[in-house]
Amino acid sequence: MSVTRDEILVTLRGVTDPIGGQDIVTAGLVRALTVDGGTVRFVMEIDPARAKTMEPVRAQAEARLRALSGVQSVSIVMTAHAAASAPPDLKMKPATPQGPEKIAGVDRILAIASGKGGVGKSTVAANLATALAAEGRRVGLLDADVYGPSQPRMLGVSGRPASPDGKTILPLRNHGVTLMSLGLMTQENEAVVWRGPMLMGALQQMLFQVQWGALDVLIVDLPPGTGDVQMTLTQKANVDGAIIVSTPQDIALLDARKGIDMFNKMGTPIIGMIENMAVHVCSRCGHEEHIFGQGGVRAEAEKLGAPLLAEIPLHFDIRTASDGGAPIVVSKSASPQAQAFRNLARKLIETGQA
Ligand code: ADP
Repeated sequence: MSVTRDEILVTLRGVTDPIGGQDIVTAGLVRALTVDGGTVRFVMEIDPARAKTMEPVRAQAEARLRALSGVQSVSIVMTAHAAASAPPDLKMKPATPQGPEKIAGVDRILAIASGKGGVGKSTVAANLATALAAEGRRVGLLDADVYGPSQPRMLGVSGRPASPDGKTILPLRNHGVTLMSLGLMTQENEAVVWRGPMLMGALQQMLFQVQWGALDVLIVDLPPGTGDVQMTLTQKANVDGAIIVSTPQDIALLDARKGIDMFNKMGTPIIGMIENMAVHVCSRCGHEEHIFGQGGVRAEAEKLGAPLLAEIPLHFDIRTASDGGAPIVVSKSASPQAQAFRNLARKLIETGQA
């Protein structure tokens, strides 16, 4: 049995905010709560001056949630609610554009979304970006998965982006892709306390203060679900379309539907869906098995009148390539798995989407 949102809230009400004496839910510290199967994520908004006092509170909340049956992983990110100016060490003012804006030099913005975590959204984003670059497109990748930025690892990029003028951020680059990620702004395994702007401010900085240069397409790897990051992105930036990644499993599809609904409400066109982990191909004998079911995403795409853009197999090499910092499109470019991503890239180019 998976845990419910209500159970999570009841548990969090058992954790007290040492300052006001209220529980952390009533005190309004719990924000952007998402419950995806056994994965619980939320943001704790705190005053930066209270970061030390609040760390034990965060740890207690995490321990209580982990003790609940049905909870497999808990991610609590602490953010500052004070309106100051910058993510760690980069002393910059947050950009505050009003409506959706174009990013200077960027032709198109494509969002890669999923309703649920762990369906391979970041893997698709990394492989699509490198496949588009291999086709000669000028590609940027913005890793906006604030809860678990994985693109630096997948693209084999490390180091901190420089900011020579203190106003703009210089992105990093590998495999032909220009990359910016919250993961590059923080130390690995560091408990993130955003001084200055909330995560949303950080997202705006990554959109508007990074020197993206001239790009044909900027791919945005969103966090799973339908939270503040999705809202901020679609409100602030001129997003040309969203691609939804799902596995064929019912539960992932249900979540994907919510994501599609949100983009519809925000007026962002759905370019299509991608079925990931469609079929498992044994790397030794080539035997095929539909571990997460079959045809679910195709049926859903048909229902929505959205194209099914790709069916990506579940394959050992796709994971090891990503873990090794060179997506399969780069490290095993001739493999059928890499070709699946190359075909996806070509399809998007042919239809004028990328
Ligand atoms: P998400 O961004 O949706 O949370 P990730 O892209 O991080 O998901 O993928 C979760 C895990 O599954 C990663 O370890 C990744 O390497 C692996 N993975 C994703 N897609 C595939 C695939 N098609 N075949 C094998 N492993 C995959």
